[in-house]
This record gives sequence, C-alpha cells and structure tokens, in this order.
Amino acid sequence: MPSYTPPLRDMQFVLHEVLNVTDELKVCPPHAEIDADTINAVLEEGGKFAAGVAFPLNISGDAEGCVLDKTTHEVRTPSGFKAAYQTYVDGGWPALSCDPEYGGQGLPFVVNQCFYEMLNSANQAWTMYPGLSHGAYECLHAHGSPEQKALYLPKLTSGEWTGTMCLTEPHCGTDLGLLRTKAEPQADGSYRITGQKIFISAGEHDMAANIVHLVLARLPDAPKGSKGISLFLVPKFHVNADGSLGGRNGIHCGGLEHKMGIHGNATAQMVLDGAVGTLVGQPHKGLQAMFVMMNAARLGVGNQSLGLTEVAFQNALAYAKDRLQMRSLTGTKAKDKEADPIIVHPDVRKMLLTAKAYAEGGRALLCYSAVLLDKELHHPDEKVRADSAELLALLTPIVKAFLTDNGFNAAVMCQQVYGGHGFIKEWGMEQFVRDARINMIYEGTNTVQSLDLLGRKVLGNNGASLKKFAKLIGRLVEEEGVNEKMAEFINPLAGLGEQMTKFTTEIGFKGFQNPDEVGAAAVDYLRVAGHLVFGYFFARMASVALKQIAAGSTDPFYTAKLQTARFYFAKLFPETATLMRTARAGSRVLMDTDAALA
Ligand SMILES: Cc1cc2nc3c(=O)[nH]c(=O)nc-3n(C[C@H](O)[C@H](O)[C@H](O)COP(=O)(O)OP(=O)(O)OC[C@H]3O[C@@H](n4cnc5c(N)ncnc54)[C@H](O)[C@@H]3O)c2cc1C
Repeated sequence: MPSYTPPLRDMQFVLHEVLNVTDELKVCPPHAEIDADTINAVLEEGGKFAAGVAFPLNISGDAEGCVLDKTTHEVRTPSGFKAAYQTYVDGGWPALSCDPEYGGQGLPFVVNQCFYEMLNSANQAWTMYPGLSHGAYECLHAHGSPEQKALYLPKLTSGEWTGTMCLTEPHCGTDLGLLRTKAEPQADGSYRITGQKIFISAGEHDMAANIVHLVLARLPDAPKGSKGISLFLVPKFHVNADGSLGGRNGIHCGGLEHKMGIHGNATAQMVLDGAVGTLVGQPHKGLQAMFVMMNAARLGVGNQSLGLTEVAFQNALAYAKDRLQMRSLTGTKAKDKEADPIIVHPDVRKMLLTAKAYAEGGRALLCYSAVLLDKELHHPDEKVRADSAELLALLTPIVKAFLTDNGFNAAVMCQQVYGGHGFIKEWGMEQFVRDARINMIYEGTNTVQSLDLLGRKVLGNNGASLKKFAKLIGRLVEEEGVNEKMAEFINPLAGLGEQMTKFTTEIGFKGFQNPDEVGAAAVDYLRVAGHLVFGYFFARMASVALKQIAAGSTDPFYTAKLQTARFYFAKLFPETATLMRTARAGSRVLMDTDAALA
C-alpha cells in the first residue's frame, strides 16, 4: 500500500523563500492582509484533508469505478467519494480562493494550487469532481451575466453544485471548429440545446445536488468553423429564480467510458435533447469565454501530474531504502544485512532524483504561474496586470505539457524502482502510471500545447513574450554571475538563454517558408523551453539554499536542494542539446515518408 506525506516544507520554501508571495501579493487590495502564517496553516489543514480523507479512497476508487444506472441515467461514484466530498464542502475548501462577494474566502489562487497539488497526489480521480468546478466558476465569474453570477456562483463557491466543461463531440476533439451541437433561441431569451458530447469528466455523479454544464454549441446563424461557437450554461436540474431547484433538464448521461486510468472519475457521454440553457458572453464568442476555463484547466492538469510525481517519488524513495538486492559496486554498505538496499545503486538514485527534480521544478513553476494569475486579476498597476497575463499565457502550455510529460516519465521511473512489484497492483505504482497517462492527452494534447507555444505564443508575437521571460533570466545571470558557487547553475542557464534566440529565429524563418517546419519542431521546442524555465527556477532555488548555508544554516533541506539542482543541471538539463538537434532536423524526414507510412 502506498503512503503520502504532504510536502509542506517544500511548499513553504517555494512560496516564502523563493517567490516571496506575501510581498508580491500584498500590494493587491484583496490580499493586503495575507501573511505567511495564514498560508502555512491553511496548507497544513489542507494536507490533513488530502492525506486523511482523499488518499485512503484512491486505490478502492480505482478498483470500484463508477456505475451508470441506465434507467435513471444516474451515476454512482465509488464508495466513500460522496462522503469525502461532503467533508470537503463542510470544511469550506471549495471557497478557498473564490470571490468573497459570492461567499468565497478570497485567498490567493496560489494557495488553492498548493492545496490542489496535495489533492492530486492523494486522489486524482476524486479531485477532478471539485477541480472542474473551479474552471466553471472562473469562466462564469469572467463572462457570466449578473443573473447567472447571482444564481450560480454562490453554489459553485460553496461546492453545493459542481461544474463541467462540455466541448468534445464524437467527431470533434482537437478541432472544435467541427462542432455540431445546436442551440435554438426561444421566445423567453433561453435556448434549447441538442447534440451529443463525449468524454465529459464528472459529467454525471451523485456527489452534489446539481451539475452546472458549460456547453459549446452553434446558433442557427453561426458562421462555420471556430468563429461560430457560442457558450451556454446548462444545469442538470433547472434553477428557479430564487435559487431553488426545479425539475430535470433535458441533459443526461448516456454512457460511461471504460478507461486506462482515473477509474473513480465518471467520464460521461452526455446527451442533450432540447436542454434549456442560457448564453454565456456574446453569441459566436464562446471559445474566448471557454478559454478562461480551459486555461485554468491547463494549469490544473499540470498540477495533476505534479501531484502524481510527488506521491510516486515519495513511495519509490521509501521502497528503495527498504528493498535489499545485490551489493553496492563500491563495496558493502549494509554489513548487518544480506544485501544492500537498492538505493546504493547509481541508476536507482538517478530514477529517484529525476522524479524529485521534476516535482520540485514543477512546484516552483506552478506556484510562480499561480502568482502571475493572482497579479493578473488583482494587481493595482495596469502594466503589471498586462505583463503578468502575457507571461502566464506563455507559460501555460509549458505547465500543461512539460509537467505532464515529466509526470508520466517520473511515474514510470518510480514504478521501475519497484522492479516486478511495480507491475503488481497492491503497491499502487501501476495506478500512478495509468492515472498519469491521461494528463498528456486531455485539455488539448501535448502536441497541441506545443503548437500553441511555438506557433501562437512565441512566433505569433515575434518572440516578444519569450523576450520578457529572457529578461528575468538576464537579471538573474547578472545578479548571480559573479558568484563562483553559482557558476554550475548559472552558466548552463545563460548558455541556453543565448542559444534560444537563434534557435527560435531559425525555426521561425523555416516555418515562414514551410509551416510544417513549425509542426515538426514544436514538441522538441516546448521541451527546450520547459528546461529553460526549470533551469531558471532551479538556479533561483540553488541561490536561496547557498545563501542560507553561507549564513550558517545547517538544515539538511538546503543541502538537499543544492544536490537536486546539481543533479538537474548535470543529468536532465543537457537533454536540450539533443532536442535542439532533433528540432533542427526539420520536417522533410517526417513529411517525405509516404513510402514508409504507406
Ligand atoms: C478521460 C478523458 C476525460 C476528458 N474530459 C473532457 C472534458 O471534461 N470535457 C471535454 O470537452 N473533453 C474532455 N476530454 C476530451 C479530450 O480533451 C480530447 O480527447 C482531446 O482534446 C483530444 O481530442 P480527440 O480525442 O478527439 O483526439 P483528436 O483530436 O482526434 O487527435 C488525435 C491525434 O491527432 C493529433 N492532432 C490533432 N490535430 C493536430 C494538429 N493540428 N497537429 C498535430 N497533431 C494533431 C492529436 O494531438 C492526437 O495525437 C476527455 C478525454 C478523456 C479521454
């Protein structure tokens, strides 16, 4: 049986020692009173909920799965899920970072992200039920009418109702322009919506009194393609003007998918049969409105993999200290034992350190991105708000794709640490691998994220956003370049920063002549960009650790930080050289292959 300990010390390090979140956010009026003690206390309690309530349901939820009653169309979630959700609601957890105007506690988004990392470690499938509600909340908060906000936001905030995002249809996943679901305007200003959605996470369940579906559909006069998509709010139960529930709406679950992982989460086929909905935002501008939810979800999916990386690492580390096999190459280490623990073997350590580095780099990047969102929403200076939004837009596809690719690799490596036992269910490692796999696929596949990064976010604005991030690196290099002890971290980072401009320009130039060049380079490019960002945070973390040690700290935490950063720069970061080479190999070796792929 796996175990889980919330990584509170590392969260505190990132939040308070590296990012100084309280100083960063105190200037934002809603967070003027925020202090480190409050954040730490909330996370400590959140960790208790994650480890004590959600984690014990992870293996049983996976084994039991969800069951659809085909006559009532109701879905029963695994035993204990509903009660755990009620405990979550009673504890006020859904409201953590919601707007006080709707009953929220108004804490910064970054605190919620840390709480969610722990929930994801504990039980990704369970966490998706409340997790999607946050995206629906954000979307309605940004684009809902005053009536929609008044009726729905308090219930999403309290957690009495949950939310979904209904984009995908059988013939349309990545290409939403192919969407067919129809919305017919009614005389009373509402719409009747008809169509079929598939793969809808938490689309039907027994955990909350109502489900608020955010549905993409086409109006009768809609232009073809993605410019003709509108967004509608479609509740499972009608909602009366006073907020009370009416009868069932014309939307139901027609089937549940049988999946590789996240068995405890209901992935529903949703049938809309003249369901009554109301328009969210402007007609034909549904995708822009939905992007609020999708961007929140993309950070959320990166966070899912961060959580899995952490829990897989913790368990593999404990196993590697306990499992005795063979002797160390440099001589017996455990003289009183029949063999040495496998942690003495260099490659076992490499697998463990890879997972640790992916978790710690991912945590720093996610917390930084969450602070950017807090500043985008609440900073008093308009320029800071705009800059934060721009940087967050650049980092979002990296968070989604780099963290989820790393998360899957980390889960596989941690499984490998267990040898054959990693393949056996009772150890829990194969579940982490299965659960981690979906994160690379949904919410825009990782290929699509890489095209978004290279095509839209980098080349689309002539590298302007990337230059802003490069400035941060430049500043760090300037500050730390004189410090000899930082050379092992700063030199490779500065080197990659310099190469990045030429690398990007080269792909941009080739892409200008042949767009397939961008498609051929994008996945490699995103990984290089991921390492550039991770390198920046590892250098910052190393700098904090070195300063603490120089000031006399003997806390082994800082030594561990330095060792992990050293490992990262020596063993993982150099992957960028190969990636740049393969990206430069161009599109011809892929596209001129009709015979090979005949
Ligand atoms: C468990 C699960 C939960 C989900 N939850 C939700 C949900 O809550 N709401 C929702 O709306 N959807 C949900 N989805 C759908 C998910 O977002 C889609 O499956 C995903 O976006 C990919 O779409 P697709 O499956 O149709 O694949 P396709 O779009 O058919 O893509 C197939 C392959 O082609 C590649 N490809 C497509 N276009 C391009 C291109 N232009 N360039 C390069 N490669 C390309 C893709 O990367 C992929 O590898 C979920 C899916 C699953 C499996």
